[in-house]
Amino acid sequence: MARVSKHYAPKGAFAPKRLPVPDPEIGLLAGMAIPADALGGKDAAQLRQAIAENVWLHFIQMSDYTAEGREARPLVLVRGEGARVWDAEGREYLDGLAGLFCVNAGYGRTEITQAMLAQLERIHFVSPFSFPNVPGTVLAERLARLSPTGEGSRVFFVTGGSEAVETALKLAKAYHRKRGFAGRYKMIGRRYAYHGTTAGALSLTGLAYAKNPYEPLVPGARHVTPPYHYRCPYCAHAEGCTLACADEVRQTIEFEGPESVAAVVMEPVQNSGGCLVPPPGYYERIREACDEYGVLLIMDEVICGFGRIGTMFGSESFDLRPDIVTIAKGLTSAYAPLGAAIASREIADTFAGADDDKFQHGITFGGNPVAAAAALANLDILEREDLPGRSRDMGAYFLRELITTIGEHPYVGEVRGRGLFVGIELVRDRETRASLEDKPLLGWLSDEFLRRGIICRADDRLSPVIQFAPPLTIAREDIDRIVTTVAETLDGLKERVGGGQ
Ligand code: PMP
Repeated sequence: MARVSKHYAPKGAFAPKRLPVPDPEIGLLAGMAIPADALGGKDAAQLRQAIAENVWLHFIQMSDYTAEGREARPLVLVRGEGARVWDAEGREYLDGLAGLFCVNAGYGRTEITQAMLAQLERIHFVSPFSFPNVPGTVLAERLARLSPTGEGSRVFFVTGGSEAVETALKLAKAYHRKRGFAGRYKMIGRRYAYHGTTAGALSLTGLAYAKNPYEPLVPGARHVTPPYHYRCPYCAHAEGCTLACADEVRQTIEFEGPESVAAVVMEPVQNSGGCLVPPPGYYERIREACDEYGVLLIMDEVICGFGRIGTMFGSESFDLRPDIVTIAKGLTSAYAPLGAAIASREIADTFAGADDDKFQHGITFGGNPVAAAAALANLDILEREDLPGRSRDMGAYFLRELITTIGEHPYVGEVRGRGLFVGIELVRDRETRASLEDKPLLGWLSDEFLRRGIICRADDRLSPVIQFAPPLTIAREDIDRIVTTVAETLDGLKERVGGGQ
């Protein structure tokens, strides 16, 4: 049998994430009063019981909470301020993940909550199936001005990232169909990329564990090699990147038959796999191939948008002009559920004309006025405080400090990222780049960060990585604390594995 690179070897059955086990002694801050109403009228034990029996968290094995000995204790977060959150027992954590890559402006922004409250009191719901609402209209105009899809773009609001991607995919198909190319239905995404859990977005997602329980999904999804030089099957051991992975997109379009391909869908910097930053020239080649073959380029900016990688939209960071962008998460800094697909003028205009020509799609809570008000206040903050610029500068500092401190650590293969979106790839052996695939060790690692009061992500959807994406307001001293904690924790790992091998 041909030897398959470890990078592409199929993973075993999806192993559920281990649940956090906070140490009662560490991270506990004296004097942090938790208001009684923060626990919804219950005590901590009652909450734990309800979580064990009635709550269903996402991608989490809930039976861990009822396992023998009830070892797994949920981390119930009840308060946030800046880059910090507190649990029900008063322990403080530095949120190195901004919730889930989304609390870009930080916690406790009363400017946003007050804007939401004012809108709630004015009118809390306007049906997007019938009427425009005021904050949604102002927000659409503002986003259209900022969007890399260009002047005159049109904004279709939804409630989150999966729906935004779903909308973009439907838009792309319908666009081709309206122009007489009904055969264009295939979508090209990247392996290991995550685009959401609704049927279309999941088809495009390149993660077997997430898709396989529901296959067959929407037909036509194809997946190409991500730009991941460290383990690239084309050029990992070449002097530099050959851009063969970008050429693979063109080859896939040609192989499938351009007349059958609707769109290429990519994140500016791919999250899953650990902050995969494409090399210079990558998107130019892909844009060129898309233009040549009449294929739309959809950039999934659900994570990269709103300053995460150092620019308001991630596409700007690569000088890229997509046809459609999808946004969510940082759009409201997660103060309210909101997402959107933003289409270029040319695409939107394809749906103008007779009643039958309209875009046949809708979602009741899409562009909810309270969520739109949150987004407007959030954009005010991002612009006034230049949080994209801060992300760029602080991210560069973070990366530099990590490289200086742990860049040569025996278990660190690569430190990479852009803006405040940083991944540390762990290896067993720096020479051979053998992956540190060891679930209990990784579980220990994320617990250890929590015990030291830091929330991060230890992800092994590709090779194991530790990821950080803190609020863009994070203080330099907090970055320093993360770097020190990473160094200490990796040293602890060394002891556990046994001296570097
Ligand atoms: N696209 C990307 C790039 C994402 O990271 C995510 C969520 N992490 C989604 C889409 C789906 O977003 P949601 O969970 O809001 O549906």
